[in-house]
Amino acid sequence: MRLTVLGSSASYAGPGQACAGHLVEGADARVLLDCGNGVLANLSSVIDPLTLDAVFVTHGHPDHFLDLYALQALLRYAPEGPADALPLCVPRGLFEDMSCFLSDRGNSELRAAFTVHEMRAGEPLAAGDLLVTPHATEHTDDSFALTVTDGSATLCYTSDTAPGEAVVQLATGCDLLLAEATLPEEYRGRAPHLTAVEAGEIARAAGAGQLVLTHIWPTNDREVMADEASVAFGRPVVVASEYDSFEIVPASDDERETS
Ligand SMILES: [Zn+2]
Ligand SMILES: [Zn+2]
Repeated sequence: MRLTVLGSSASYAGPGQACAGHLVEGADARVLLDCGNGVLANLSSVIDPLTLDAVFVTHGHPDHFLDLYALQALLRYAPEGPADALPLCVPRGLFEDMSCFLSDRGNSELRAAFTVHEMRAGEPLAAGDLLVTPHATEHTDDSFALTVTDGSATLCYTSDTAPGEAVVQLATGCDLLLAEATLPEEYRGRAPHLTAVEAGEIARAAGAGQLVLTHIWPTNDREVMADEASVAFGRPVVVASEYDSFEIVPASDDERETS
C-alpha cells in the first residue's frame, strides 16, 4: 500500500502547495482521502484521476472538500464521455450543503458525478483491496479520522482533530500515522487541532510505526516542527511535502518500541 501526499497545507495553501489531499494505492484500488483546494492539479500530476475508485471527505471544512467541484467537472467532461459515477464517502449532510453554491443544472451535474455514501463511525467501506474505516474525532460535530488497511499494513490519517484519548485509540498499532500538525507550539490549545509536539506524543502513545506530519499552516517552520515532533515521538519524523510518497508495510516491533 502506498501513500502519496498531494496537499500538505492547512486552511489555505502556500506557494506550490495544496490543501488536504492524500492518495492511497493498494494492489487493485486507488482512493483519495480529502479533496481540498489545489488537490486535483497535484493528483493529475501523479495519476489519471479517472482511475480513482473512491473519494473520502473527512469533514465539511473547505480546505478538505473544495476541489470536489472541480473533480465533478473533470468526470463530466472526460474525453470519452461522462465517467461512471464515482463513489464519494462524506459525513451526513455535506453533499447537500455543497448544493447551495450551484444552480439547478449544476446540482444535477454534481449528483450525476458521484454516488454518495454517508460515513458512520466504525462502519468500514471497501474499495477493491482497501478497507477504509471512519472514526469520530474531536473537531467539528461530524469529523472523521480514517484508517485504511490492505489486510497487511494500516495507515491512520487523523484528519483534523483536537488531542485526546480518542485519537490515540484509533491510531493504536498503525504502521504509519499521518497526523495533522496545524498549530505552531505557541498556538497550542487555541483551536481543535494538534501541534507537532502533540502529534509526536500521540504517535508514541499509540505505538505507531512511522509518523508523518501534514495539514500545516504555510507560515509554520517545518524544520522546527520536525525537530519538536521527533523529540516527542522518540524517533525521526517526516514533515510532508507535496508528492512525498511512502510505502506502508507492517512495522517491526523495534519500530514500534517507545523509549
Ligand atoms: Zn483542515
Ligand atoms: Zn477542519
